[in-house]
Amino acid sequence: MEQTKKFLLPESELPTKWYNILADMKNKPLPMLHPGTKQPMKSEDLYPLFAKDLADQEMNQTDEWIDIPDEVREKLKIYRPTPLVRAYNLEKALDTPAHIYFKNESVSPVGSHKLNSALAQAYYCKKEGVTNVTTETGAGQWGTAMSFASKAFGLELAVYMVKISYEQKPYRRSLMQTWGAQVIPSPSMSTKAGRKIITEHPNYQGSLGTAISEAIELAMSTPNCKYTLGSVLNHVSLHQTVIGLEAEKQMEMTGEYPDVVIGCFGGGSNFSGLAFPFMRHTIKAGKKTRFIAAEPSSCPKLTRGVFEYDFGDEAGYTPLLPMFTLGHNFAPAHIHAGGLRYHGAGSLVSQLLKDNLMEAVDIEQLDSFKAGVLFAQTEGIVPAPESAHAIAAAISEALKAKEEGVSKTILFNLSGHGLVDMTAYDQYLAGDLMNYSLSDQEIKDNTENLEKLA
Ligand SMILES: *Cc1c(COP(=O)(O)O)cnc(C)c1O
Repeated sequence: MEQTKKFLLPESELPTKWYNILADMKNKPLPMLHPGTKQPMKSEDLYPLFAKDLADQEMNQTDEWIDIPDEVREKLKIYRPTPLVRAYNLEKALDTPAHIYFKNESVSPVGSHKLNSALAQAYYCKKEGVTNVTTETGAGQWGTAMSFASKAFGLELAVYMVKISYEQKPYRRSLMQTWGAQVIPSPSMSTKAGRKIITEHPNYQGSLGTAISEAIELAMSTPNCKYTLGSVLNHVSLHQTVIGLEAEKQMEMTGEYPDVVIGCFGGGSNFSGLAFPFMRHTIKAGKKTRFIAAEPSSCPKLTRGVFEYDFGDEAGYTPLLPMFTLGHNFAPAHIHAGGLRYHGAGSLVSQLLKDNLMEAVDIEQLDSFKAGVLFAQTEGIVPAPESAHAIAAAISEALKAKEEGVSKTILFNLSGHGLVDMTAYDQYLAGDLMNYSLSDQEIKDNTENLEKLA
């Protein structure tokens, strides 16, 4: 019998609403706090920084469904709905009775799921008359997504790119410039925050924390300019739910329902996007599904971090968020999954983990690349080093199913492809990569000074 490999939806099945899990959560996350006064913040407090609609979405605890504007749906149709694929060849290679499915977000023009939120954020900025936007980027995926989204909605974008990535990942910089963005290596002389660091440490190679500070400063000091962020916040997870809403319909086409749903984890947006629409059936109808976030062993905030209020950036400019964190001064090892090198987890996921609605696992760098190479050799797609963490977790679940001799339906998110990350694969294939272990003492040193506000 011929096997159905791809489950495709017509454009007319692109979701018309995003799913807001905040409305359904029995225990709401603790409120965001003002960094100075330590008082709970309202959406108005975020208006100077973010577009109003985005600030309102961030705080919306009542509407389970939020309309996706037609203008955003039109742009999403460039690449959505994305395929759901049954990974038959990977199953065969593992000799597992498990059925493995993946949602393929690597087909977006920028190569990752990040465009799902970039388009929405650019649209809401344009709608309120904003002309300029700023952001920061580490490895470059969020910057590339915002570059295309800004061009699509006629906005001027300035991206602060961590200096070491600017030099080491020239192709992501070229992509951003091709889509018309201005890319500035951070630290730069264009902001007070940047000048201060360059004066004190002339050879500083940059960090995401510094780049965030520069992007926020430029947004606050430029008329008609807003700041955008690619992960961690509630509204970003909200925009990503198109992934899970499509996957829900596609799983129906397969005649199966996932026992396990897996996503890799940086700040939480792609994991949330796939998991939350399925989790609503767990919350509302008591469905038994396991949700697994796969994080790198070198940056284990969910598996080994503490639950506390912490800043989103190194400098401590952002509001305080309740999160599982390794401390905002934590400097993760330079693993190649740049998108997963973030010290904290979004507050939605942090609360859901506390409430045992989900689990987390940590994956060693070498195991992630081993899984990535097996996936490339069986399913043909070279995965992003970030996505390879989800693949490693899926493989581990499939091998457990084999040991136990039971079938099981596994769904994971392929958050992006790795075609701009081949330097990392080169190093892996040459045997030049290693694992990084983190001692309990290091974690304690970085977290023990957090104010006990949670
Ligand atoms: C940014 C990125 C991630 C991690 O970010 P999340 O917000 O946790 O999803 C994962 N995969 C890819 C391909 C990315 O670009």
